[in-house]
Amino acid sequence: MDLTELRLKVDKVTDSAISKVDWVNLPFGKVFTDHMLMMDFVDGCWQEPQILPFQSIPMHPAMSSIHYGQAIFEGLKAYRHNTEKVSIFRPDMNAKRFNESAKRMCMPQIPESAFIEMVRKIVEIDQAWVSEIKGYSLYIRPFMFATDHWVGIKPSETYKFMILLSPVASYYSELVRVKIEPYFTRAAKGGVGRAKAAGNYGASLYPAKFAQDQGYHQLVWTDASEHKYIEESGTMNILFIIDDVIITPTEDEDTILRGVTKRSILDLARYWGIQVEERKISVEEVINAAKNGRLQDAFGAGTAATLAQIALIGYEGTDYHLPPVETREISNKLKSYLSLLKIGQSEDIFGWNFPV
Ligand SMILES: *Cc1c(COP(=O)(O)O)cnc(C)c1O
Repeated sequence: MDLTELRLKVDKVTDSAISKVDWVNLPFGKVFTDHMLMMDFVDGCWQEPQILPFQSIPMHPAMSSIHYGQAIFEGLKAYRHNTEKVSIFRPDMNAKRFNESAKRMCMPQIPESAFIEMVRKIVEIDQAWVSEIKGYSLYIRPFMFATDHWVGIKPSETYKFMILLSPVASYYSELVRVKIEPYFTRAAKGGVGRAKAAGNYGASLYPAKFAQDQGYHQLVWTDASEHKYIEESGTMNILFIIDDVIITPTEDEDTILRGVTKRSILDLARYWGIQVEERKISVEEVINAAKNGRLQDAFGAGTAATLAQIALIGYEGTDYHLPPVETREISNKLKSYLSLLKIGQSEDIFGWNFPV
């Protein structure tokens, strides 16, 4: 099918489940909206997408994605501005990244405009689920997986693309304790670290649990060959502020996921005249800066929490504490500006909000 002019089949629920939601105790990613979107790739082309009541999907036990991991996903959010208005934050960036992930995993691409339109349509149908409560949003999960019924290793010929929506509360804003990882690896050069491929997350669980058992929330990934350079923090990008300069690992290496939140933070910081350096950053540089009081700030960036400030960094058995959060002017300002921008309360200078 030609996706340039998107036609959608819509089958709506008769009774919405929204009145059953416990908004006060809303767990992350466990509650889903009334509808979901589904589109099949068969005979070399995408079929007509459908929006249908949220439901389980039948699965053949030899479905190739559960054996060999041809599966990718995205994560983005919709926010409520007021009673009438809802917008989605930078879906164009997710559309682009989804296709980059698809390419790396030998999966079919989706025209960016069709991806954005499908996201927009499903959010529009379930827009009542975008809560007005402060800090709440609607998490959007587009994903694609291989559906051939065959336990042979080759790229699948059939795929399913889906979008789920999940209302989420404000992410905990507790400061995070991180540990610099001296052994385990998230991504190696030439690998799939740049793709939002399902297997990357399965592989990260064991090292993350190991760090958690040692009293940290998350680990900081280092390069696969020497463990000397900083890459990411958990499932977030990482940024440091040393001598008033924001420093973050360069995306030139294919071991780093190109985050939309980080890109937005850097664009905003540069616009405000803050110096930004995207380059290799060694563990030694960060630890030395922490030792002599020049490490002003460190924070993770990602859609779930937007900006997660770091309390301390553990390395070789020592915990290096960062300055009190009240003194972290730059990250505090970035965090509040971005949060307000997403709900239409600070000026959208770059045109990042896509109206629904
Ligand atoms: C999704 C993700 C991020 C953050 O990307 P955003 O687009 O900002 O949400 C960073 N690192 C990894 C490994 C990720 O999977």
